[in-house]
Amino acid sequence: MRVNKNYAKLETSYLFPTISRKVAEYQSQHPEAKIIKLGIGDVTLPLAPAVVTALEKAVAEMGKKETFRGYGPEQGYEFLKEEIQKYYAKRQVALKMDEIFISDGAKSDIGNILDLFDTDNVVLVPDPVYPVYVDTNIMAGRKIIFANATAENHFLPLPDKNVHADIIYICSPNNPTGAVYNKEQLQAWVDYALKEEAIILFDGAYEAFIQDESLPRSIYEIEGAAKCAIEICSFSKTAGFTGLRCGYTIVPEGLDFEGLNLNKMWLRRQTTKYNGVPYIVQRAAAAVFSEEGQKQTKEAIAYYKENIRTISQALDELGIWYVGGENSAYIWLKCPNGMKSWEFFDYLLSEAQVVGTPGAGFGQNGEGFFRLTAFGDKEQTKEAVARLKKLLQK
Ligand code: PLP
Repeated sequence: MRVNKNYAKLETSYLFPTISRKVAEYQSQHPEAKIIKLGIGDVTLPLAPAVVTALEKAVAEMGKKETFRGYGPEQGYEFLKEEIQKYYAKRQVALKMDEIFISDGAKSDIGNILDLFDTDNVVLVPDPVYPVYVDTNIMAGRKIIFANATAENHFLPLPDKNVHADIIYICSPNNPTGAVYNKEQLQAWVDYALKEEAIILFDGAYEAFIQDESLPRSIYEIEGAAKCAIEICSFSKTAGFTGLRCGYTIVPEGLDFEGLNLNKMWLRRQTTKYNGVPYIVQRAAAAVFSEEGQKQTKEAIAYYKENIRTISQALDELGIWYVGGENSAYIWLKCPNGMKSWEFFDYLLSEAQVVGTPGAGFGQNGEGFFRLTAFGDKEQTKEAVARLKKLLQK
């Protein structure tokens, strides 16, 4: 037996364990301190009532012989795929039912989709980055190159015509930076991918946070994308499904490479290695698209966006440089006074008892930057921001 030695090449992520350790140490030394966490990437609001009702109804169906469901279609039930099809149609994106695959969340499919690609491919990921793109490719032994996201390009790198890539990751709205590509910028990526005969893996996990109608929520709003892009989405941030688990992946029928079709390959992969998302969870996800579900989930997003506004207003007043915010769930700020990411983390924790995420944990270009999230409690976010202002105005 030989093990996959690529696992030995993975770097241990110290980011969140170090944050937890530092916070626990501070709390034990200052038991009275009221620490506020603005570092989390998980949602905090409960599921929408329409979703809970749909879940309860589906559970009751499962308890009756006449309505019980066993194995469902591996690629998802039609009732949910139809809702997704209609959701895309609202933005003039026509999807065929066979192009939609229901998943148990974006993270699994970000990893699983790599089954379709040879090890011998050059992978291009932005830096800073959601670490899953990097680690899943290290596990498979692929060569990774980075596209530098920096303050100069507002953390939205564009393709370099002198660099060849085969697999390109794009996350917009971005985690960790909150930066969002506009149509022209995404068009540049699509044109580049078509020229290089590359595939774009587009992560749209935060699309529901886009409020500017001119910004693309799906890569398929861009001409040519159906020939070069796979889109991976999630109900996690859209509707609080981080614990329930449901997402979807779009693999267009027109993705033909080297005599093989990626849509057919993905169908084959899923029907071979996967037995589908629970019926009750798919019913819950379908309820997100009902009139009530849309209203309620939009209210939750509006709540998070108010947190973002609270934070960004304070940063504006303090004259601190940042990207993200308006159309995303994250704010990515430049640490004041030239501080490094962990230096600012320690300073905020010890002087204001506020916790954020050091940008350095997301890649080299994250050094000197800091991530704050929308997902906190409204009152706590206000309190954290008041402390931040008091501290940094000094
Ligand atoms: N993609 C990005 C960019 C994320 O930030 C996250 C979660 O934080 C995911 C995907 C994972 O989503 P899911 O909960 O659907 O697995």
